[in-house]
Amino acid sequence: MYDLIIIGAGPIGMYASTLSLSRGIKTLVLESTQIYGGQLNLYLSKDILDIPGYVSIKCETLKENLYKALSSYNPEIIYNTEIMKVNINEDQTFLLETNNGSFVTKKILLTTGAGKYNPITLDIDGMPNKKVSYKLDNPYIYKNKDVAIFGGGDSAVDMANLLVSIAKKVTLVHRRNDFRAKSENVNTFLNNLGNIIKPYVALKLTENENKINFVLENAGTKEKINLEVDNAIVYFGSASNTNVFTNILDYDPSGFKVNSACESSVKGIFVAGNACLYLGKNKNLASGFGEASNIIYTIDCQINPNKHISNFNSKK
Ligand SMILES: Cc1cc2nc3c(=O)[nH]c(=O)nc-3n(C[C@H](O)[C@H](O)[C@H](O)COP(=O)(O)OP(=O)(O)OC[C@H]3O[C@@H](n4cnc5c(N)ncnc54)[C@H](O)[C@@H]3O)c2cc1C
Repeated sequence: MYDLIIIGAGPIGMYASTLSLSRGIKTLVLESTQIYGGQLNLYLSKDILDIPGYVSIKCETLKENLYKALSSYNPEIIYNTEIMKVNINEDQTFLLETNNGSFVTKKILLTTGAGKYNPITLDIDGMPNKKVSYKLDNPYIYKNKDVAIFGGGDSAVDMANLLVSIAKKVTLVHRRNDFRAKSENVNTFLNNLGNIIKPYVALKLTENENKINFVLENAGTKEKINLEVDNAIVYFGSASNTNVFTNILDYDPSGFKVNSACESSVKGIFVAGNACLYLGKNKNLASGFGEASNIIYTIDCQINPNKHISNFNSKK
């Protein structure tokens, strides 16, 4: 039996498993894809500016550092694993049935983020097209290219800011007048001579020679314009993605509801990172690392009460 099964090997799952293994908690990590890193894989070249202690850190460096720290504890990680069923046993342990076998554990920590990345697609005539991508693997393939980015959230604007110093020209196309992204990031894009077309939606895509051409329609006046570019990136976010836990836990489309200890509506199942929801939750890395740290401490107190007699009420 495991003390803890962590579901999801994104940044928060990797950090949580490092902490749990460092405390001697018998831990298994189950990941649905074939790689660790979660959403970090979507923006490897970005400089992250809001990690405590770093003025700036390259996303890929953070990802590899998190994995290096975890690797030093010889973690047990099983990739390509889908959880099919969760049984709550009478003794308050859990039986997880997966495509890679069944596992019994005392506690579960969900670090499933937004679920498997399942991009909301651009469904217009002419799609799919090889010159239109849903993620930014390597920004340098866009060197000297004319690129359109569709979307108005933080991720789309982050990608635009990353490309604006590499590509020949970057045009951000958004369907609304207001961006959901932070206004200072939109201003940075404009200050770096990025181009914005709004409020426009794409109606149609055609390809000729090496270029792709979008017909865009003004969301208000319905006026149509053409936008010719070399490539496009669409970042409308990830489609809502449910898993077996959405049936047994208190779930809202933006996450699993948790209490102040980050415990879900089922005792013994905790949630950290982008998957959890509480008043004031900020879906970023720093908040997820903090949640992971508190949860692992709580779990250690609960399964090893003798270690923590002085400062924790283990009767919870
Ligand atoms: C373009 C972009 C830029 C960003 N920039 C910043 C930034 O500058 N600063 C910042 O703090 N944050 C930033 N973020 C947000 C940050 O990446 C997320 O807050 C963080 O990745 C959340 O980590 P997580 O581990 O909770 O979830 P995720 O990173 O989503 O990882 C979840 C993991 O769980 C796995 N999984 C999902 N469902 C299951 C399942 N049922 N079974 C098994 N495994 C499962 C997934 O495959 C994935 O590996 C950015 C995000 C994007 C997209």
